[in-house]
Amino acid sequence: MATDKTALELQDIHKSFGNLEVLKGVSLTAKDGDVISILGSSGSGKSTLLRCINLLENPSQGKIIMGQEELQLKPGKDGNLTAADRKQLESMRSRIGFVFQSFNLWPHKTILENIIEAPMQVLKQPKAQAVKRAEELLEKVGLADKRNAYPDNLSGGQKQRIAIARTLAMDPQVLLFDEPTSALDPELVNEVLSVMRELADEGRTMLIVTHEMRFARDVSSQVVFLHEGQIEEMGPPEQVFNNPKSKRVQDFMSSHQ
Ligand code: ADP
Ligand code: MG
Repeated sequence: MATDKTALELQDIHKSFGNLEVLKGVSLTAKDGDVISILGSSGSGKSTLLRCINLLENPSQGKIIMGQEELQLKPGKDGNLTAADRKQLESMRSRIGFVFQSFNLWPHKTILENIIEAPMQVLKQPKAQAVKRAEELLEKVGLADKRNAYPDNLSGGQKQRIAIARTLAMDPQVLLFDEPTSALDPELVNEVLSVMRELADEGRTMLIVTHEMRFARDVSSQVVFLHEGQIEEMGPPEQVFNNPKSKRVQDFMSSHQ
């Protein structure tokens, strides 16, 4: 359940690639515990929006605020904004978990080593503490027996559950998911969605780009529909799924369920 405390606020985010403006002023607020699904056609700017949050892409305009803390930005050489304070960016990044479509596990590290790396390197956790937490998280995602395996020996669904465990090991305040099940064989999608559902039930703040409509309808507190870099419609799932105001959203919904 969402509370009144703001976890993440995006104000008027713009982003251009050359002459192509792919985000045209997107604003949204996630309260603590909100699960916000971001829907929209391919190319509508969903990934770019998520990537702007922790400056994997540099927005050309806008504000990013985590809790009470605004990310300090300054104009860069290419006309986009960059971090004014590298340390602050690193600190904010360590509090934002990002789960990608492509897992991005380190192939030469075991599953356990994959999970303990960032807590030890970034959070300076002692190894014993990082291992203990990793074991709890492996238990949580149902893969305790894989701790000494290598990523190549796991299925896609297992890899994504490990990627989620690795993200949780940093104890992030906000979780971002960019189509976490799109690369998976259909029979492996549900094992990942059920882990995500559990995180939503725990009250974690999540922004999820997904094409899994039933899942989005079930877990979201807010649904955002992006079209050509702008929010076409935003509201609770009952509204956006069952009773969208926008004709474009109506068409999208009828072709996606
Ligand atoms: P979505 O995730 O909704 O499919 P994206 O955010 O990936 O959309 O892309 C939005 C638009 O921005 C697309 O037209 C895409 O081609 C363009 N785009 C994304 N990344 C880059 C990039 N690094 N350079 C140039 N254009 C890009
Ligand atoms: Mg995308």
